[in-house]
Amino acid sequence: MNIPISTTPPLQLPSDQDATGRTLGDEEIAFIAEAIRSGTLTATKGNFTKRLETSFAASVGAKHAYACSSGSAAVHCAIAAVDPEPGDEVITTSITDMGALTPILFHGAIPVFADVDPRTGNVTPESVAARISPRTKAIIVTHLFGNPCDMTSIMAVANKHGIPVIEDTAQAFGATHAGKPVGTWGSLGCFSLQQGKHVTTGEGGLVVTNNSDLARRTYLFINKAWGYGDPQPDHYFIALNYRPSELQSACAVGQLPKLPGVVAARVAAAERMDQLLAGTPGVSVPQRTPNSSHTFWKYSVLVDPTVIPGGPPALAKELKLANILSAPRYIQKPAFRCQVFRDQRTFGNSRWPFTLATPEAVDYSAERFPGTFEYLDRVLVLPWNERYTADHLNYLASSIYQAATKLAKGGAA
Ligand SMILES: *Cc1c(COP(=O)(O)O)cnc(C)c1O
Repeated sequence: MNIPISTTPPLQLPSDQDATGRTLGDEEIAFIAEAIRSGTLTATKGNFTKRLETSFAASVGAKHAYACSSGSAAVHCAIAAVDPEPGDEVITTSITDMGALTPILFHGAIPVFADVDPRTGNVTPESVAARISPRTKAIIVTHLFGNPCDMTSIMAVANKHGIPVIEDTAQAFGATHAGKPVGTWGSLGCFSLQQGKHVTTGEGGLVVTNNSDLARRTYLFINKAWGYGDPQPDHYFIALNYRPSELQSACAVGQLPKLPGVVAARVAAAERMDQLLAGTPGVSVPQRTPNSSHTFWKYSVLVDPTVIPGGPPALAKELKLANILSAPRYIQKPAFRCQVFRDQRTFGNSRWPFTLATPEAVDYSAERFPGTFEYLDRVLVLPWNERYTADHLNYLASSIYQAATKLAKGGAA
């Protein structure tokens, strides 16, 4: 593929951190104004949160959806819904957002890390199966960067053992596996409406489920477990206030109809980028899970350090000179190497709930995570946006091509 070599000064790419790369506009303003004029900003009395929940449930084909204050809160609600005993194990992935992990600890359960596919960074069914123990209470998978996990195989593993699956779909709005939306394969699906996600309210989250008992527990956990509308309401169990405000929900009601367009634009841009990057030395385009649609929260390439000395960090450094802010190694290190897990920093000096863990559950030896280390050594995450034009894509691709060629030749371009 011949890539047009850019001679113009660095382009300013649209950013998901401000209006250049967000779809917020008059629709959201009108709904938020309506919420303010109504004078009702709490979700317990207003209409926007209910409206958001109804339309989101319909959009993914789930029976129930509940809005909450963040994606982390959504994950916490899902864990609370499955109601682990202290010390129960929740299998999760070594490459994900911390917001998918700390709720497990707050709920007194032990995160048990499974290994990932070195080509996609998604947790593998084989590794999940290998981590199952008599104490496994749930499995949480993250559809990394918008690329679905192999849900057919993961559900087969989970169903064989009767273990509920929670899908962290924060990065994968609109993605499908075998024609079915991710987030609806498992018992519960969690979404985030944080600033940088496909659609946003600044902060916010959603939980979906088809199971009425899990739905009831999710709803209660968001609402201090107060039985609103019950004949004899009480605070039935330990729970927090994880409600969104009506302002957030009004914004989300404006955002939701824009989601299909956002997804389509991101996918089209990614397909174009695949073509533009063909033939770039040492750089391979994102792998898609077979029989799935990837919705590109980010566009992540793999950089072969045997072709490009220094690997992703070296390439990222070159790209920075072209004003392209990529993330080499995504989260830098496996989640289990973060201080909270390394030093078991939890409540005071107690180390609880790690004190309840079996040695195997907290065995973070590198030999158990070959896929994780190989993936993190190679991944370079490019910022991705629905507003990328042909010029932006040409600029990104030509910058990557020039940087990769220069580094591959040993820096003597
Ligand atoms: C963003 C994100 C979260 C956390 O969402 P917040 O809204 O930031 O709390 C959880 N998991 C994944 C995979 C995410 O990308």
